[in-house]
Amino acid sequence: MNDCLFCKIVAKEIPAEIVYETGRTLAFRDINPQAPTHVLVIPKGHHATAAVLADADDGLADEVLKTAHAVAVLEGVADSGYRVVFNTGLGAGQTVFHVHAHVLGGRDLTWPPG
Ligand code: C5P
Repeated sequence: MNDCLFCKIVAKEIPAEIVYETGRTLAFRDINPQAPTHVLVIPKGHHATAAVLADADDGLADEVLKTAHAVAVLEGVADSGYRVVFNTGLGAGQTVFHVHAHVLGGRDLTWPPG
């Protein structure tokens, strides 16, 4: 999509600190980190929300989750525990409508989230 921020990161039109990449997914550091590890995992193709991605039914949602786990391993937070969050919709705080998994770790994570 022309005016999508994360599509522009995929196209390298906007810089990002990329930490991992597969054929169909990209992982880069959040510019406003909420934990020592805060990486966003996206499908390279545009899907607005996690709900849209789930409906795509082509294995891409699995690939996003696998990439999230690979990032946790690379970042050294897989054993201590990490959180994968999809804010889905305005009411859940989604601000960028290109689906992204937040991978958060490296500190104690409290529950419930805010
Ligand atoms: O779940 P939500 O849509 O609110 O998350 C969007 C995330 O994208 C925010 O955590 C924000 O810091 C991040 N972001 C980014 N790089 C940008 C713009 C936003 O990492 N250029």
